[in-house]
Amino acid sequence: SRAKRFGRENKVNTTFSDVAGHEEAKRELVEVVDFLKNPQKYLAIGAEIPKGVLLVGPPGTGKTLLARAVAGEADAPFFTVSASEFMEMFVGVGASRVRTLFEEARKSAPAIIFIDEIDSIGRKRGAGIGGGHDEREQTLNQILSEMDGFDKSSSVIVLAATNRPDILDPALLRPGRFDRQVTIDLPNLKEREAILRVHMRNKPIASTVNIEELARSTSYFSGADLKNVVNEAALEAGRVGKTTIDMSDFYRALDKITLGLENGSLTIT
Ligand code: ATP
Repeated sequence: SRAKRFGRENKVNTTFSDVAGHEEAKRELVEVVDFLKNPQKYLAIGAEIPKGVLLVGPPGTGKTLLARAVAGEADAPFFTVSASEFMEMFVGVGASRVRTLFEEARKSAPAIIFIDEIDSIGRKRGAGIGGGHDEREQTLNQILSEMDGFDKSSSVIVLAATNRPDILDPALLRPGRFDRQVTIDLPNLKEREAILRVHMRNKPIASTVNIEELARSTSYFSGADLKNVVNEAALEAGRVGKTTIDMSDFYRALDKITLGLENGSLTIT
């Protein structure tokens, strides 16, 4: 086919233990895992299970990672699509992809659908330059009608990521759609330390490496940036044939990345 399909993973190995920090977000998402695993608990008491959760935060903070962890924890298949990919499609293709995506997810329920960059498709309708974008509106309308069409016991939950909740069409945020928001901020000092530890887990880190100091030197770094720091340090050590990664490798990695940041080539904006 000419257009990209959505991704599907039947078995996701990511769990909450792969996500450092974001304790509050994890607490809220544990609930979503329970909705998927024990829907009857809620249905029996007359509750309607939420259909959509918006993950709000800057790039690289772990929104995709958290969505995958929800699927992994619930042992549910993970369907993923990037909303910006819909924009490259021919008229009518986006909407029909959405239909197929939801159909497959319903057949595999309980399931998670993850829509990355929902703002690229979910902007307020008619607000773009040159007015409405037919393809975009059709695709957005299809997402809304699929979510409205879930029956009470469907056990498909849609997670969507954005860093611009303010520009979203209010129709997306109505009850029964993306009526829950989970904030995923840049990591604080303690969280940066925890993220560094996660990414150092399977690497030969010299015992002299001061992780706390590295966390202090990386204010405003996202989780993705921190992962990159550890990888760059490993590359530095590997380049000169070392068998462990030491502090000098981390300093070089930081220099390199800070330069990159100044040139605007990394994820921090
Ligand atoms: P984007 O909005 O740019 O897609 P995102 O918020 O979805 O970004 P991810 O793609 O989940 O971010 O993060 C990129 C990578 O950074 C992850 O695969 C993971 O390796 C690492 N990472 C980010 N945040 C964390 C975290 N809190 N704990 C551990 N690793 C993290």
